Amino acid sequence: MEKAMESNMFIDEELINELLENAKSATKEDIGAILAKAENREKLSHQDIANLLQIEDEEQTKELFKIAGQIKNEIYGNRVVLFAPLYISNFCVNECKYCGFSRSNKFARKKLTMDEIKDEVRVLEKMGHKRLALEAGQDPVNCDIDYILDALDAIYSTYNENGNIRRVNVNIAATTVDEYRRLTEKGIGTYILFQETYHKPTYEDMHVKSLKSDYDYHLTAFDRAMEGGVDDVGAGVLFGLADPKFEVLGLMMHNEHLEDKFGVGFHTISFPRLKKAEGMSLEDFPHILDDEMFKKIVAITRLAVPYTGIIMSTRESAEMRDELLRYGVSQVSAASITGVGGYKAYDDGEIIDQFEVGDSRSADEMIKSLISSGYIPSYCTACYRKGRTGDRFMSLAKSRQIHNVCTPNALTTLQEFIIDYGDDELTEMGEKFIAQEIEKIERDDIREIAKSNMIKLKEGERDLYL
Ligand code: SAM
Repeated sequence: MEKAMESNMFIDEELINELLENAKSATKEDIGAILAKAENREKLSHQDIANLLQIEDEEQTKELFKIAGQIKNEIYGNRVVLFAPLYISNFCVNECKYCGFSRSNKFARKKLTMDEIKDEVRVLEKMGHKRLALEAGQDPVNCDIDYILDALDAIYSTYNENGNIRRVNVNIAATTVDEYRRLTEKGIGTYILFQETYHKPTYEDMHVKSLKSDYDYHLTAFDRAMEGGVDDVGAGVLFGLADPKFEVLGLMMHNEHLEDKFGVGFHTISFPRLKKAEGMSLEDFPHILDDEMFKKIVAITRLAVPYTGIIMSTRESAEMRDELLRYGVSQVSAASITGVGGYKAYDDGEIIDQFEVGDSRSADEMIKSLISSGYIPSYCTACYRKGRTGDRFMSLAKSRQIHNVCTPNALTTLQEFIIDYGDDELTEMGEKFIAQEIEKIERDDIREIAKSNMIKLKEGERDLYL
């Protein structure tokens, strides 16, 4: 194992505790001044973020949500990116106290063969998916890097009549620079790894005597990933393990560390909240995050790191996800199944979820619901395929040009979905919506390209993007 760099170089537990302690004396006026700063799009300090985490006042909470919504709208517009997780192996040598895959849970482990992976991908393609997040437990023998690389080949090479999966993000355990390099060469999208908790004593308590036990090695995984050529990294905390306020500051410090060292921070942040799983009881976790605090945390993150995508999985209910789209969420999973081989089993009428999902809408229902709320569901994967990753994506996000690139691309993928998968209801509502949204594209030349792409799609062309 490569030697991990000292984590306390960038996650300073004492400093975070001090910031949180100071924040307790923040007045309503102090918080009002920070909200005004955010409204003026000024950068927030760690102390500002810690103070915002103290918001209790109803009016100020509304103000926080309003500003988060404005920032989201300014940067991401009304686009919402859709993806689905694909679990390929639940073999795991770790004993994470919160996870159903923990090795102390005795159940028949499963890893998909390449043919089974292709079956899963065919079902996902039949739903219209173009972007996946590959998920696996950690097991160097049963699920080594060669297996993951073969799985990526199997996914990318499985075509149906409407094309193939165009981007695969990968959520596998922390590994070496060399293995990250091999993943990069295979053409992964974002490398996703959740820190689970930035609070070292909690981390060590949650991950007993296993490969995942080493806090520093886990925390420095993105350093190695970036050294191995990975451009986009996706972070996350499993909310429910430690004090959520501590975690938000940990996320910020980690992000800044990467910005300082590599010139680019997190591409995305995911917000998983602890759910009941095999072998654990939620009662044993004293930091379960309630809905109100959860919403505030998402909104505060939107203010603190405006250009980082925020991902919300189907662990959350349809209502919660719909609400959070207004405060900052930019990517959601749709029609997810969290068991190994689950899609095929579901398609065959047999459901085998790993844990109960909170939002069980189908991709079609999701899309209709998003359009009804004025969002453009997007299956776009253009940035990654055009090499707009890492700092190149960030400079696009920071320029107003993002709307002239992403909106036409989102509309094109929606049009493609409607043609290939839409029923009469979706076709009618979707076509009307596209006609209305296309007129909002600012640049005349781009608007015209988008319109001509819609015609080309109807004539049978596919996969058109800027
Ligand atoms: N094995 C990989 C690793 O070690 O990072 C990650 C794959 S795991 C399938 C994906 C994520 O599921 C974990 O990082 C964890 O945050 C989340 N998870 C585990 N147990 C959970 C639970 N009970 N409720 C919600 N999310 C959970």
